[in-house]
Amino acid sequence: MVPTIRLNMPVKFLKGVGERRAEGLERLGIVTAGDLLWHLPHRYLDASSITPLARAGVGQEVACIGKVVTKAVTPTRKGLRIFSVVLRDDSGVLECAWPGQPFLDRTIEVGQTLLVTGQVRFYHGRQLAPREHLVLGDDDDGEGGVGVGRVLPVYPATAGLSHKVIRGLIERHLDALIGASVDLLPASARQRLGLPALAEALRAVHHPQTIEEAERGRQRLAFDELFDLQLMLSRARLLARHTRAGKAFQNRKELTSQLKGSLPWPLTTDQRKAIKEIYADMMASERMHRLLMGDVGTGKTVVALFAMLLALENDYQAALMAPTELLAEQHAATLATLLAPLGIAPVVLTGRLASAEKGTRQQQIAEGSARLIVGTHALLQERVKYHRLGLVVIDEQHRFGVEQRAAFIGKGDGLDVLMLSATPIPRTLALTRYGDLDISVLRERPPGRGIVKTTVRGPKSREQVWDFVATEARAGRQAYVVLPVIEESERTDLRAAVTMAETLQARWSDLQVGLVHGKMPSAERDRVMEEFRCGKVGVLVATTVIEVGVDVPNATNMVIEHPDRFGLAQLHQLRGRIGRGSDGAISHCILLSAGRIPDRLKALARTTDGFKIAELDLAERRFGDLLGARQSGGIEVRTARFPEDTELLLEARKMAAGLLHEDPTMTRAEHLPLRDRAVARYPRGELLFRLG
Ligand code: ADP
Ligand code: MG
Repeated sequence: MVPTIRLNMPVKFLKGVGERRAEGLERLGIVTAGDLLWHLPHRYLDASSITPLARAGVGQEVACIGKVVTKAVTPTRKGLRIFSVVLRDDSGVLECAWPGQPFLDRTIEVGQTLLVTGQVRFYHGRQLAPREHLVLGDDDDGEGGVGVGRVLPVYPATAGLSHKVIRGLIERHLDALIGASVDLLPASARQRLGLPALAEALRAVHHPQTIEEAERGRQRLAFDELFDLQLMLSRARLLARHTRAGKAFQNRKELTSQLKGSLPWPLTTDQRKAIKEIYADMMASERMHRLLMGDVGTGKTVVALFAMLLALENDYQAALMAPTELLAEQHAATLATLLAPLGIAPVVLTGRLASAEKGTRQQQIAEGSARLIVGTHALLQERVKYHRLGLVVIDEQHRFGVEQRAAFIGKGDGLDVLMLSATPIPRTLALTRYGDLDISVLRERPPGRGIVKTTVRGPKSREQVWDFVATEARAGRQAYVVLPVIEESERTDLRAAVTMAETLQARWSDLQVGLVHGKMPSAERDRVMEEFRCGKVGVLVATTVIEVGVDVPNATNMVIEHPDRFGLAQLHQLRGRIGRGSDGAISHCILLSAGRIPDRLKALARTTDGFKIAELDLAERRFGDLLGARQSGGIEVRTARFPEDTELLLEARKMAAGLLHEDPTMTRAEHLPLRDRAVARYPRGELLFRLG
């Protein structure tokens, strides 16, 4: 009797999965039978038309299948070792060669059936240098014919569990697994979106006839994945906006008008628009849950200040939280200057204050004489009591965990929350990562601010670059030198921060070279940063730890070593640390490339628009990686791809919002299964529905 398959049963109950294979599968995250069904191929090999070996002509692009009859590893005169095999089928033989891959000798054996694709060339006869290869079967499997005439899925595999075994398992149980799956997407929605039914989609991804069919299947699965996420995010947003004690600020135009009158410059159009959006939120009875996103230097601080003043006008306190003491103090200084004409002084609360002083300030906060408060996470401590907190601004919000943000929200009744982010991201990513927030964007930079000119230089220009850095530093224009690693290691030949600092110090006896990196005690790091800020250190060698938002107006130059080691968005973030002077001086960001200059760096040099760079960055990385999903315990986007699936994302969001509008708790019989599926994918999301 064949037991019926349930998707939630342990995968080891499936025929062909023993203890050992179950262990291997678990390493791939496959625990249940359903996990196996959702273990999707990461690529496909197009074997839909197989060329007989004898007919693979020189210059032709082919896919061939044959049995390995001999294999060899041969050295060449250049010291390169070549792995080669001879394949045989009914029509004849063909030689395949993999230059520089002698290690294949360990995985490819005589007797195996191999699928190879690539272009046939002429090298002492016809030869194929396979672009891709796949072991289809061993001598004894009698599996030689597998895969002919179709598109072959290739699965993510792990040590001790080859993709071939995984493919075999899926193949074997596919019908039963699909039979156990339930399609929750209503047929009407499916038709409107032009997506296949679930069973059809699953069959298409695991057993496609064509690449196009596999892609259509993937899109359907991606839609489900995006829908689950959007349902959670939309629900979170709904709750955040509605749990509020009906507080609505009024625009009294007192402090806010005074600030407008005393600013040394006009606000940019983007700043005005953002302030308007924020005020609309704060004046509505729903609670504000907004993200203000803009590149470094676009002027987020002053926008946040307007929001804080609106709270103050309404007899509430406002607090600004920054991720480090340095940033908190810097903010306090900036705000103090802007607020001087209004007769308001910000009160700073950080961990490093002397305890008597800390006590005094906590007292002021509790009594309400401290109205505008700036600090680090010290603001969140249990013993810090607020008199009447109305607004919280969280700078560099990604540096704080969800728990910390939540702790703040507990400090006041129906608090408004404004988060700041200096990392512009494309809309698709924003809707996914911050789908629970409203978003305001600062795109343009205020005029008259420093300009950053980016150039890419090759190895021949190194000397010249260092001379430039020194000449500038002697004239008081300091520089950052950024490196990808802290210390040299045998595994890479990357230049490292520690040795670079020594080298540069030895080179310039008249300049002080400082060093900051992530393995340093933070007090020491702050000390060096302070020396840099006051001008004592002329050149600061650093890893990427230099804080986002650190403002050293005299630092106008930056050299980045091994720029190819960094993502485009990261490079853009880094260069945001310069060009912060107000005298309109030109700052220079020099990317010191080790070899030929890649196009991506040229593209970066051409534009300063953070949102455009974010799009380029997204294009060169995997969406899931960008979300940093797994480690943040949050979002799981494995099947969807961007920008290709943007439409699907928008549709998923629309459908989620529509359903929640009709049925906010998703408890109607036709909605409950959708809710359960989303909660199964995002267990922490259960809370969102329990609260409702
Ligand atoms: P961000 O926090 O977005 O990186 P800041 O708020 O630190 O940017 O602003 C960068 C600099 O620009 C600050 O020195 C600020 O005083 C200045 N600034 C802000 N808004 C304007 C404006 N509208 N016109 C001119 N300068 C401005
Ligand atoms: Mg800032």
